[in-house]
Amino acid sequence: MKLIFEKSVAGRRGVRLPKCDVLAELAVPEELKRKQPPDLPEVSELETVRHWTELSRHNFGVDTNFYPLGSCTMKYNPKIGEEVAKYQGFSSLHPLLPQLRQGGVLTQGALQVIYETERLLSEITGMAEFTMQPLAGAHGELTGIMLIAAYHKSKGNRKTKVIIPDSAHGTNPASAAIAGYEVVSVPSNNNGVMDFNEFEKVLNEEVAAVMLTCPNTLGLFNPDIKKIADRTHQVGGLMYYDGANLNAILGKCRPGDIGFDVVHLNLHKTFGTPHGGGGPGAGPVGVKEHLKEFLPISLVVKRPDGTYALEYDRPKSIGYVAPFYGNFGVILKCYVYILLLGREGLIRVAENAVLNANYMMEKLKSYYHLPYDRRCMHEFVLSAKRQKEKGVKALDIAKRLLDFGFHPPTIYFPLIVEEAMMIEPTETESRETLDKFIEAMIQIAGEAEQEPQRLKDAPHNLDISRLDEVTAAREPNLRWKG
Ligand SMILES: *Cc1c(COP(=O)(O)O)cnc(C)c1O
Repeated sequence: MKLIFEKSVAGRRGVRLPKCDVLAELAVPEELKRKQPPDLPEVSELETVRHWTELSRHNFGVDTNFYPLGSCTMKYNPKIGEEVAKYQGFSSLHPLLPQLRQGGVLTQGALQVIYETERLLSEITGMAEFTMQPLAGAHGELTGIMLIAAYHKSKGNRKTKVIIPDSAHGTNPASAAIAGYEVVSVPSNNNGVMDFNEFEKVLNEEVAAVMLTCPNTLGLFNPDIKKIADRTHQVGGLMYYDGANLNAILGKCRPGDIGFDVVHLNLHKTFGTPHGGGGPGAGPVGVKEHLKEFLPISLVVKRPDGTYALEYDRPKSIGYVAPFYGNFGVILKCYVYILLLGREGLIRVAENAVLNANYMMEKLKSYYHLPYDRRCMHEFVLSAKRQKEKGVKALDIAKRLLDFGFHPPTIYFPLIVEEAMMIEPTETESRETLDKFIEAMIQIAGEAEQEPQRLKDAPHNLDISRLDEVTAAREPNLRWKG
């Protein structure tokens, strides 16, 4: 352990370790040590390398191809985040290290990372404090709604409803329902955002919160947002911001300034961790001053002497929402990402994300139906309605895109658009890549007119054919054929 630590950041900086009982305490006791080597299957280093290299080549990801999966933000994340997460001072820390609870010298760096990331996210969103514990976006939503419930309970408010627009991510109504609220769905208007008059009709004293995604899943910003927040506060409700996709507004506006009381972020979408593949995520939740006392335990605090510690003594806290301290590796990568880009860099993320999406939307809108023809934010939604007249569905277009080496966009979501194709190019792609995708989409629109069967039989260029989805679901064959 000592050796490991000395090789880590602190060690490299020449920090001298004080003598520390914890190191002796951590040694594996003699009686628990193996007497014989374990009976493991033997493979040579070369066989191992070939196995993993082979597997890595079957992987489709942002590192290999363009991946415009709307609402998922499949953007490139700088490799330096992975590099720092590998530092042994971080990667070898164990969550049961007694030093962690006490905020001892071995764990100061990790606690500082959590503390400072929390401060940075508060600044970026205009919130008073964050919990870094939730392990995913949906987990953050549930935590946030639980905080809202704790707030109303402490005030003696009897509130039973949560208002959510019909374009919301499915996790929103699910989180509100799991937290015990009745979900009231509000339709979108012709502009693709929550209809203000319909909203007024269902807004009353029973409303605990309004959950909004802004820009929403159509990639559209709601111009009534301030009015909605003011009206909700007038009836004693709170405003919840689903900030899973913060790309579009980074450094441009802050949910806290607009009037939101609670926000969750997806670090694995916006802040430096690759998304997908079932890997770890993080859905930290930020709150305004009046909700701070309910935040989950533990929280990292900075002591007057400048050292860091974990705090558990919070009588009004909703308690634990996750084991230990959240997904530390993800929090660390977020910290690296924010420091790497800085204020100017984050603003450019937003500008380029929005520019790329609008560029693509403008180039494609004469070939595909664009249900909401107005300036979009970080993503936009096309409809394959016109192609459907020729029998071609969004699914066929998605399959044909595979032939061009692209991951298809999100299809059939949001539910309010027929044959939806939700495209999020992200800020990290070059103009050349965007143009190649646009060309492929235009060619496919032509094929839908001229030879629709070609799309229905796609993909053609891969060594797989179109899955029979029913059989695949009923009799899954998960063996790699090679
Ligand atoms: C991805 C997403 C979520 C859920 O996040 P998970 O980490 O997948 O649980 C919630 N809301 C929106 C708008 C999202 O895009």
